[in-house]
Parts: sequence; C-alpha cells; structure tokens
Amino acid sequence: MKLLKLIVLGASGPYPGSDDLPSILVVYGRNTLLLDAGEGVQHRIKKSGYSVAKVRIVLISHLHGDHVLGLLPLLQSRSLGGCRDKIYIIGPPGIREFIEDNLRILKFEPLYDIIINEVLSQELVIDNVRIYSFPVKHVLPTLAYVVNIDSIKLTYVTDTRPLSVFPDAAARPDVLIHDSTFAFDMKDKAEEYGHSTSVDAAEAARNLGAKLLLLYHISPRYKERSQLLYEARRFFSNAYIAEQYMKVVIIKRSARL
Ligand SMILES: [Zn+2]
Ligand SMILES: [Zn+2]
Repeated sequence: MKLLKLIVLGASGPYPGSDDLPSILVVYGRNTLLLDAGEGVQHRIKKSGYSVAKVRIVLISHLHGDHVLGLLPLLQSRSLGGCRDKIYIIGPPGIREFIEDNLRILKFEPLYDIIINEVLSQELVIDNVRIYSFPVKHVLPTLAYVVNIDSIKLTYVTDTRPLSVFPDAAARPDVLIHDSTFAFDMKDKAEEYGHSTSVDAAEAARNLGAKLLLLYHISPRYKERSQLLYEARRFFSNAYIAEQYMKVVIIKRSARL
C-alpha cells in the first residue's frame, strides 16, 4: 500500500502580517517535501507535528516574498537543531543567488549541504521522488511542479494565468493544487495581477483529468470562501478550498499480480 500525506501550511494570497502564506508539506515515508516556503513556514511545520530536520526537498515556484521568505529561517533552524542531512532546493533562475547571497551576508554556514538546482522545464530524480518542472504565466519567472512519489502524482500550479496547454507529465494527478486567487467576477483583476480564478482552476482540473482539486492562494479579500467553491464545483465536482492545516491522505493499493 502506498501512502502520501499533504498538509496545507498556508493557502492565502499575501496580506500584511499574514500567517497563512502559501506552503504545502508533502509527507512521504520518513522524509518531507515542501512546496513553497512562505514566511513563518517553519513554525507551521512544527505546529503540524513535523520537524524541519526532515525536510529533504524544497520546491520554490518563484521569487515573490509570499513563496520564499520562510526559506532562510527554515535553513537556519535546521542547522541550529544539529541536522546534518543534505537538503535539495529547486527553483527558477535566481534561487541560487537568493540563497547564496543571504548565507554570505548573514555569515551563516549550515552544518549540512544545500544542493541548489535552478530549473525551467526539467525532470529530476531525488531518491524515490520524480519531479518535473514547467514554466507558467505570472508577472515574473514562475514554475509549476509535478511530483511523483511511488505511484502517486501531485500537480502544483500556483501564481499563474490559466494555461491552455499542460505538459503530458502534469496530466491525471491524484491531486491538483491550483491558483484560485479570485472569484469569476474578478477575472479582470486576475488578468492584471497574473493570477487565476476559481473557474480557471476547475477548468484546469477537468482538462488534466485530476481526481481532486484544491483551490489555493486565495485572496484575503474573501472572508467567506464559499463563492469560490460553488463556482469551481459547477465545472469540477471534486473541488475543495485548501484550508490551513487541512490534511489530505492519499492511499493507493499496491498492484497485485
Ligand atoms: Zn503568491
Ligand atoms: Zn507571485
């Protein structure tokens, strides 16, 4: 039996003083993988009952603060805690400079190796995790990721205009996590800011043949998020709002001969 857990650590678009910035923890075996690292992510990992020392892989979608400013404190805590296990950080061009310049300015030498990969459209394999990245359409270079662990597939598409074409690798995910910053009546704002609506997210889920859709990166203007959910479900019934600390457990039976 294959089992994977997703824990939503944050799912809102940015707002001042937010404690709900985008990050998702993927728990596989004894290790974890982090999709984006918004400010305060290390505290939310701890609150979820997990350790920063077990974060093995970090995938950064782009270099907007709401996706990356939690990374340095996480790296520092990992070292202060005595962790010596290497960490893999994958992101768009610029992620290396962001990490290396900050380490140098802070005179911070971690106890462990940091392996940084700057990617565009690429496939990487780390242990039993196969990762495929591809560019999306935001206001600065941004990547989506497909994560395959055992036979479970996650497709992570945030901070983007709706895509008319997806690479084959992204198709038929067990879970699609998709930008849903605005409701449909604010589609002009979505276009202006390089984001998607709940309807765009649902259409992506349908086009990709996703099994489950999580509406993600929701604008803090929506105190009541049911409008986004109802809109999405008109096009894709198995849609849910990604709420902070929500857990999704994916279980697959092993193939029998
Ligand atoms: Zn964002
Ligand atoms: Zn952004």
